[in-house]
Amino acid sequence: MSYSYVCDLTVAVLSVMVLFMINMVYVPRNRRLLYVKLALYNLIYACILSIFFYEYLLPRVGLVNDLWVYLIHNAQQISLITELLLFIFYVFNLVGYKNRKAYVMLGVAVLLFYALELTSIKTRIGFYIEGNMIHNGSITSLYLLWYVMAMPVLAVTIIRKNRIIISRIYRAVSVAFGLCLGITVLQYLCHTDTYTTLTYFIPILIIVFLFHSNSYNSTYGALDREALRGRAEELIRRHNSFYFVYVRINHFTSIETEQCILEDFKSFAEKTDYTDYLFRYDDETFILLYRSGECMDMLAGLFEELHTRYQLGHRVLAIPSNDACHSLRDYIELCRYLRGKHEESYLRVGDQEIADFKKYLIVKNQLSDIAEQMDLEDERVLVYCQPIYDVRRQAFTTAESLMRLELPELGLIYPDMFIPVAEQTGHIHALTMIILNKVCRYLSVHEQPDRISVNFSMYEITKSGFYDDIMRILSGYQFDRSRIAFEITESLDAEHLDDIRVILQEFRNIGIKIYLDDFGTGYSNLEHITNLPIDVVKFDKSLVDSSGYSERSKYLVEGMSNMFHSIGYQLLYEGIETAPDQERCIGMQAQYLQGYRYSKPIPIEQLADFIKNPPKESVEVKNA
Ligand code: C2E
Ligand code: CA
Ligand code: CA
Repeated sequence: MSYSYVCDLTVAVLSVMVLFMINMVYVPRNRRLLYVKLALYNLIYACILSIFFYEYLLPRVGLVNDLWVYLIHNAQQISLITELLLFIFYVFNLVGYKNRKAYVMLGVAVLLFYALELTSIKTRIGFYIEGNMIHNGSITSLYLLWYVMAMPVLAVTIIRKNRIIISRIYRAVSVAFGLCLGITVLQYLCHTDTYTTLTYFIPILIIVFLFHSNSYNSTYGALDREALRGRAEELIRRHNSFYFVYVRINHFTSIETEQCILEDFKSFAEKTDYTDYLFRYDDETFILLYRSGECMDMLAGLFEELHTRYQLGHRVLAIPSNDACHSLRDYIELCRYLRGKHEESYLRVGDQEIADFKKYLIVKNQLSDIAEQMDLEDERVLVYCQPIYDVRRQAFTTAESLMRLELPELGLIYPDMFIPVAEQTGHIHALTMIILNKVCRYLSVHEQPDRISVNFSMYEITKSGFYDDIMRILSGYQFDRSRIAFEITESLDAEHLDDIRVILQEFRNIGIKIYLDDFGTGYSNLEHITNLPIDVVKFDKSLVDSSGYSERSKYLVEGMSNMFHSIGYQLLYEGIETAPDQERCIGMQAQYLQGYRYSKPIPIEQLADFIKNPPKESVEVKNA
């Protein structure tokens, strides 16, 4: 058996260098990095043992105690097996393979190898000494077998399981592992032990470069999202306090390649004492992680300065680490939430915003739970009703259903807090179905009121299956279909207008009434409106209010009311709060009046009582 220490020495030195470099550059700090580092330490250890064993002990067999020879040989072999085990752990972790059985089997195989190795002194299966001569039993070939089997399995696992791998990486892995196999087999055939550690070092290099290398991906050294995730989650895991600074610069790509950007970033980093990496989240978004909040107050000014120079709009959010966010995803979601809520170009986030965000998260989770369960009787969804006064019949003949949610931790919550979230996430349709079901059931057992209207969101009407879903619920209850009305708002995109018209007409054909909600907000298109099959137009509170402030707008509202009246629509005024509101609207073709003056929305269970005994004062003033 021949041996030269040169290769082991080189591998040991290179391993030290790789360890050193890993600590200098950015690499994702995850569990896989731990495996890489352990593999490097273990390899250095194996190299030193090899050199000591082959160079010092072997020539002295017979002169030194045999036990020493056995001990060092065992230690060296076991470290090589351990190395292979670390590779396997790395690859399992890389491809997200979590099979317990596989881990147990691996453990058993390794223990078996250890046992064979350690008992060879007696069993003589492996390495043993007899009459001052060393022998290799079958263990060397067993070890070879293990290596020969493990390498292709690892290569195939990496390539097959990890779908994101591009073909270039795929080729590199195959070539390197093939090379190692070749060296091992050749070494076996040539009866030498010189290159064993090299066949471990090459896979480590491949792993460090291909799977663990730094991820600088932009022209001027910002790290990518993956690196950001690693860094942010490291800080979170360690319970470090930090500031997550989100910077969005509109059209950043248009100035990205200018040299002065780099210089400006450098001077920015110096002024704010920024010591972490710069992360780029997407084309226009950067993240900075500050370990203290000291410079947060100067950030606004610095960005204003940059704005004056480059004339690009920006949004900066300075978020302290908090207990609502447990991952990068949560922080990004918080940013998205804040961007929807606040307009300022610089916002330093405080306890209030974090508390609101927590509520938002609860609402969001509850909504998706409601949608997932799709229980039409869901007790979290409450129906409130606001009675509507009929001017001609001088009684509360109809009502509008308004949704409330009763959620754990939050209690009763109002539409402004959940309707936008439900519309964004698409869960609004589930809520509508539940409300519609409860209203239909109410109508099927109560004679009063004459009619209840249900609000529909424009986001759901054009979704496929909408019509069938509604009809399925209606078909479960017996009542005159004219006792229910659907409130819709005017859709701005004319694109869907034809579809909407067709669906609404179908509903109308079976007797359902259609209300046009919120007329006077947004940009009403009269042509669209007059083309829709509508029974009642609901004039928004803003029209009621403005007609009270100025003569001009009173003329305008009056004109519109006359027009709608003359083409046969009934008019409903919303947001009637005072006696003058009421008088004015009655003078403007009002058929129905709705507002706090008569009643706030009440639980649907109280509606029948209200209609039977309307509160005295509202009736009195009304008749006055
Ligand atoms: P909306 O459909 O315009 O409903 C009228 C809103 O005005 C209700 O607010 C009602 O409580 C309020 N209101 C009624 N009278 C007065 C008044 O005299 N003064 C003032 N200041 N406000 C008055 P609410 O219940 O908070 O609902 C807000 C919005 O949420 C609704 O506006 C509607 O767009 C949406 N919404 C409520 N329930 C549902 C639902 O079941 N489905 C859908 N898609 N949207 C709903
Ligand atoms: Ca409404
Ligand atoms: Ca309305």
